[in-house]
Amino acid sequence: MSDSPQHRDMLGRAGVPSLADAVTTLHDALSGIPPLPAEAVPLADARGRVLAAEVTATEDIPPHPRSTMDGFAVRAEETFGASESLPAYLRLAGEVMMGECPPDGPPVECCFAIATGGLLPPGANAVVMLEHTVPMDDMVEITRPAAVGENVIGRGDDVRAGEALLAAGHRLRPQDIGLLAGLGITEVKVHRRVRIGIFSTGDEIVPHTGAAPPGKIRDMNSITLAAMAEECGAEVVVYGIVRDREDDFLPVAAQAARENDIVLFSGGSSVGVRDLGEKAVRRLGKPGMILHGVAIKPGKPVIFALAGNTAVFGMPGHPVSAAMAFRLFVAPAIRRVSGAPAARLPEMPVVGAVLERNINSAPGRTDFVQAALGGSRQQGFSAMPILGKSGALSTLVRADGFFVIEESCQGLEAGETVEVFLYP
Ligand code: AMP
Ligand code: MG
Repeated sequence: MSDSPQHRDMLGRAGVPSLADAVTTLHDALSGIPPLPAEAVPLADARGRVLAAEVTATEDIPPHPRSTMDGFAVRAEETFGASESLPAYLRLAGEVMMGECPPDGPPVECCFAIATGGLLPPGANAVVMLEHTVPMDDMVEITRPAAVGENVIGRGDDVRAGEALLAAGHRLRPQDIGLLAGLGITEVKVHRRVRIGIFSTGDEIVPHTGAAPPGKIRDMNSITLAAMAEECGAEVVVYGIVRDREDDFLPVAAQAARENDIVLFSGGSSVGVRDLGEKAVRRLGKPGMILHGVAIKPGKPVIFALAGNTAVFGMPGHPVSAAMAFRLFVAPAIRRVSGAPAARLPEMPVVGAVLERNINSAPGRTDFVQAALGGSRQQGFSAMPILGKSGALSTLVRADGFFVIEESCQGLEAGETVEVFLYP
């Protein structure tokens, strides 16, 4: 942890870690958690799941040489020197039917009609594209030579049997499961999904499904954080809303910690007298509190603790702060606990954009600024900062993403290029 005098905690004490130090601490602590057990799932249910074991190819793809074009299967040597003015003439000896074994190779100076994907007849070693031929009754005029292997995908050219295809820890994407389907793999070994228990805290918070009388506000965080956790591939259990009272907060925190791999609560994570987050995580057991407060804005009063192998996160109650702290700390934790490697920066697509106005920042903390993108890919993107209090969820709704002002930086000027992390 950095104890640079610039980093002050919630009470102004020195010692709040920088974002970089906090991320290192988080990753170090998470690396001690054993990976979740493996389970076999049908390939059709495997998208987004994290492989528990390397997958190697069981067969060659393609299993036989195939044509990649519509045309004529030939012996390449018999087309050498062919041109429009001096074509080669080959007799049409038959046709390769799709889905069937090809006839035996073309006799000397013969060819076979073949469609894209057709199996190359033994003896043929190239395909001349239809565009470079003139079919005439039982002869075919070839107006361009074909090189050996041209327009042919050879056996195993795509995938070789025995080849390592996907590493353990890889999160399966649609194209990955497509490849496995091509190999006839019907089931994969993946880590169990991360179970994450979520609750909101605060005497003023009421369920979003009912009225909000004066003094009360509807719970926005549970549903937002649950949706974000599901986007990360986690399975969510929602524990509702707890009051700012130990006899309500502590038992729910303890139950959630017993029943989940990760616990996430929002509100009460700061150091006020009514903030019970710190007390609750201290009661959950060892090793206990690992981080409390990070030099970032929004999201400073974040808690990260471990109760055995359960990671416990306390997010600030302000919805924007909670969402930001989720992307910085909880999303990588879900990946790590899932068995996938996690990066230090949010794993979101990034585009460069020209800042449209000056923006100030206090040194000594990392700022995250919501931004609306303008312009276009062709003309270049521009980024308009969306300013507003961290309680204002509408700033997130109007934003296409956010950019970062590094902790050493006192602000950015209009015209500078920023990297905008894009929301999905
Ligand atoms: P806290 O972190 O508990 O001090 O809360 C900070 C601010 O966020 C307060 O104005 C809370 O009312 C608000 N807040 C806390 N939890 C939620 C929630 N679940 N949904 C919406 N706002 C919340
Ligand atoms: Mg509160």
